[in-house]
Amino acid sequence: MKKKPTQSVTMMDQQQALYLALRARDRKFDGRFFVGVSSTGIYCRPVCSARTPKIENCTFYPSAAAAELAGFRPCLKCRPELAPGLALIDLGTRYAQVAVQLIEQGYLSEHSCEQLAARLGISDRHLRRIFAEQFGASPIDYAQSHRLLQAKRLLADTDLPLSEVAFSAGFGSLRRFNELFKTRYRLIPSELRSAAGRSGNAASSGLLFHLGYRPPYDWPRMLSFLQARAVSGVEYVAGKQYLRSMAVHQGGIDYQGWVSVQPEEASNRVRVEISPSLSRVTTEVLRRIRQLFDLDAAPDRIAETLGSLAAGAPGLRLPGCVDSFEQATRAVLGQLVSVKMAAIFAGRMAERWGTALEHPNGCVTQVFPGAARVAQLQPEDLRPLGVQLKRAAALIALARAVTDGRLPLDNVLDIEQGIKDLTTLPGIGNWTASYIAMRAWSWPDVFLAGDYLIKQRFPGMTPRQIEHYAERWRPWRSYATLHLWHNGNWEPSTDTKVSPSE
Ligand SMILES: [Zn+2]
Repeated sequence: MKKKPTQSVTMMDQQQALYLALRARDRKFDGRFFVGVSSTGIYCRPVCSARTPKIENCTFYPSAAAAELAGFRPCLKCRPELAPGLALIDLGTRYAQVAVQLIEQGYLSEHSCEQLAARLGISDRHLRRIFAEQFGASPIDYAQSHRLLQAKRLLADTDLPLSEVAFSAGFGSLRRFNELFKTRYRLIPSELRSAAGRSGNAASSGLLFHLGYRPPYDWPRMLSFLQARAVSGVEYVAGKQYLRSMAVHQGGIDYQGWVSVQPEEASNRVRVEISPSLSRVTTEVLRRIRQLFDLDAAPDRIAETLGSLAAGAPGLRLPGCVDSFEQATRAVLGQLVSVKMAAIFAGRMAERWGTALEHPNGCVTQVFPGAARVAQLQPEDLRPLGVQLKRAAALIALARAVTDGRLPLDNVLDIEQGIKDLTTLPGIGNWTASYIAMRAWSWPDVFLAGDYLIKQRFPGMTPRQIEHYAERWRPWRSYATLHLWHNGNWEPSTDTKVSPSE
């Protein structure tokens, strides 16, 4: 085995590099690895404020699940459950991404690992291999760690009774929760609750949580993007606060309520307040908020690829959504009209066909109508709202395709194929389909070469040439699109002629 010495040298180098990141408390590594400390039996985020342990006591893990499998308990100080997730592209394969999405949505609470693999169209063995490579843990271990960390979060941050905590975190029974908690954390849940201590800044009327992100984060741009598109009755942006309604369908039950989000920039996290009516689905609500605000992004990697294009706004994020049908609807309504007009149409739809919240919060009173409701409409029904017949027909066709299951809008595995499938619907062209991929599926690598504003940034170039130019921004072309939209002074570099090597 000649290879061995080189391998261990690389491993030592890697150990050193991770240790340096740990010692520097480098925020860009938050969520990318966790460190288990043998002298304490605790594992931490690399940003933990506790004293840096000695290198000989440190073992590094690619996920919280792997650290827990090795017998470490989560730190109560840095709270691994607050770490940002892996950026989409980090996950190597789309299979891992979608598997994680499904696991976070509770798929493994009701299905087996084999069923998860079948859902993705791959073998169980292949799925396990992907998880071993990416996370150092099996899908089941990953799911268990995820549930435990969600439970830990609920214990620390809420007064919910234990049975609610267990249910909300995705455990089938309180006994199962207690057992796993004791085995993994060597604590009983109530001990953790008293050890964590309530943070004291109790929410005014809802449940209060925090989610971490990797700085920099361009909050002014994100909030103004959302404000410009805010749908009245459904969303409200005031100062740094973003408030909206949300509906979650889980376990055959419809939950509705509101969520309020506010950045706490000094600590690189957001404060999320969730209405009590959503207390049983907080895990899913928090997942959607992470997606809407692109909290798992790795800005340093994006900046590295985009170079000068991103230099003026390195914290720019890709706004996602909390509901893929709502986002797709907004994309269709936005065809050939202003951003403001699209929001007005969406607001009229919400007013007419949305569901009223039982406990509204200020001017957030409605839940946006779901696909099932829109599927029942006729194009003429949208005419009084000012929506063109052709566009109304497109919208209704989309809603029907989603309702019949012909066109799934969630957990889309193959993005290219998903975009193609969307364009088979009447009135949905490539721009709209690509925009849906970008916003509703949070796909980081969509480039809108045919977009009106984008074309203006490349005077004299055809969409094909523009597309070719944009190749340099892979795999972050969605971010490139956003930067180009924002930056009217940008000009393509003159190396264009040199690059084609064919
Ligand atoms: Zn810690």
